[in-house]
Amino acid sequence: MAHVLITGGSRGIGAAAVRAFCKRGDRVTFLYEKCHEAARNVAAETGATAICADVSDPEQVKAAFAQIEELDILVNNAGICHTGLMTQLTPEEFDRIFAVNVRGVYLCANAAVPLFLRHHRGCIINVASMWGQVGASCEVAYSATKGAVIAMSKALAQELGPSGIRVNAIAPGVILTDMVKNVPAEILENLRLETPIERCGTPEDVAQAMVYLAEADFVTGQVLAVNGGFVIT
Ligand code: NAD
Repeated sequence: MAHVLITGGSRGIGAAAVRAFCKRGDRVTFLYEKCHEAARNVAAETGATAICADVSDPEQVKAAFAQIEELDILVNNAGICHTGLMTQLTPEEFDRIFAVNVRGVYLCANAAVPLFLRHHRGCIINVASMWGQVGASCEVAYSATKGAVIAMSKALAQELGPSGIRVNAIAPGVILTDMVKNVPAEILENLRLETPIERCGTPEDVAQAMVYLAEADFVTGQVLAVNGGFVIT
């Protein structure tokens, strides 16, 4: 039984991760930002503990981690996206997406390390995106944040390896969650057709990869693509 903390666990990929780690018999806590009812439902269904905290806010992250006594696995999954031309992106929107997607990963990893060091053992799984590998038109800021998450994961894997802490990233492809609910159906269909496996991904596809990385004791500093072959690097 491992102690697991998952950010953004109230829905989508994060909620699937909560279910997958609970099914493994782990003790799971998850953070979420706003959706109290969805968080309550996931907690009631799985037995996981929900904590409302904005991962971009140092004080809220500190308060959330103060409620955690033991930690073996941190899944940095919380993220937001922004679709539109870069020329129409405001500096405030640019800063917000970096605050959640990049600073949030930094703040949670920083808070987790002291807990890991107690047992000279730990595992961090950061959710990036295939757009962080190859870039996406009209998702410039989002792609940049996910590229940063990939670089941060590789750097941290080197820094924390000697302390028994593994760090990996997952780069999902198109996954059917609320994040893509505003993508027009014909665009989603084109993305599906461009995917060698000929389907879009599910939150469970990504959760399965998270469980693999949690168990893969000799794997660190890697980017695991979960994209049906859409991007092959
Ligand atoms: P989603 O919008 O369905 O869920 C996002 C979750 O993050 C929610 O639980 C929300 O409460 C939480 N969250 C958002 N901002 C937060 C904050 N400031 N503090 C704490 N929690 C916050 O999205 P999803 O599709 O499940 O995405 C999960 C992760 O996967 C994100 O990092 C996203 O960038 C990444 N991803 C998604 C796709 C996709 O196609 N859906 C593809 C690649 C990567």
